[in-house]
Amino acid sequence: MADQAFVTLATNDNYARGAMVLGKSLRNHNTSRKLVVLIGPHVTEPCQAVLKRIYDEVKVVNVLDSGDKAHLAMMNRPDLGVTLTKLHGWTLTHYSKCVFMDADTLVVSNIDELFDREELSAAPDPGWPDCFNSGVFVYRPSLETYGKLLQYCTEHGSFDGGDQGVLNGYFSNWSTADISKHLPFIYNLSSIAIYTYLPAFKQYGGNAKVVHFLGKTKPWSYTFDPKTKKISGNMQDAAMHSTFLVDWWTLYSNAVVPMLHQQYGDQTFHSGCVELFFSDVVTFESRFIQEQEEPEPSPAQALPPPNVSSAERKEMWEQGQADYMGTDSFANIQRKLDSFLK
Ligand code: UDP
Ligand code: MN
Repeated sequence: MADQAFVTLATNDNYARGAMVLGKSLRNHNTSRKLVVLIGPHVTEPCQAVLKRIYDEVKVVNVLDSGDKAHLAMMNRPDLGVTLTKLHGWTLTHYSKCVFMDADTLVVSNIDELFDREELSAAPDPGWPDCFNSGVFVYRPSLETYGKLLQYCTEHGSFDGGDQGVLNGYFSNWSTADISKHLPFIYNLSSIAIYTYLPAFKQYGGNAKVVHFLGKTKPWSYTFDPKTKKISGNMQDAAMHSTFLVDWWTLYSNAVVPMLHQQYGDQTFHSGCVELFFSDVVTFESRFIQEQEEPEPSPAQALPPPNVSSAERKEMWEQGQADYMGTDSFANIQRKLDSFLK
């Protein structure tokens, strides 16, 4: 077991906070494997100190001075900076097998059984299920593979500009070759799936083992009141993250913030938690419902039929009976998002 590890990556303090929560969540579910975090040189001292308390190994990686091949790849593909850093996972050859996990993932039950799988095992991407999502994957560290991946990067780049494009390009037969390399979706449940297929989420979401806060708005983008367990911030995104967002914040505020406070001492440190009374905090659930009850902003759009209440509309939506051509049409949803973002 000592030669197998969970590996994550954080190039800055925000992702480092994610890595702290991920590491704590793995420990809380009694993993028997080692924990490794790869960090960029910009992660500050206090954050590095906290990571050292949670992880067995904290390794500073800097693609620019990490050897000829990597340097060359970096020169040719300056757009792939963070991606190349993720590939560094393959250089951890003192482990025979690893599970890479994005710093924006949260473990909700023990997942040590993932080490029974082979390289490259991963769960389907919710946006294009013939691609795997690179937020959680099983791999075997190897300098040979690392070299080949870098070579692939320089020659082909990444079709999506990130590591997922590179890895799907390199492990290109994933979708058809071997079903045992398809991890069940519950090992990388992205919040996006909650609203794209709500009935399935209601049916299977309770089995989730790993939650992935994929997308632009990350858990640390919000503010949290630990006393009331209320979240504030971009509520449209919060609604789609579901109650897992509260789980992330509860773990962060209970287990990580005290360690950060110790490291920062008297220096000002913004934990993202509400320290004083914060009157305009609303729960994302109540706000989500409120959002749906708001009158539509533009006179040009179709209004809901007058005999359907917003609660009924919400219920119909949840049952998969959205009025796709009318009230719930893409154009109307887009308009609502636009007005919300304004
Ligand atoms: N990452 C990082 N610094 C960055 C961006 C990404 O350390 O500035 C790492 C981090 O581990 C993160 C992973 O790369 O979880 C993939 O990026 P992200 O999770 O933001 O992409 P998404 O899952 O939303 O597509
Ligand atoms: Mn991610």
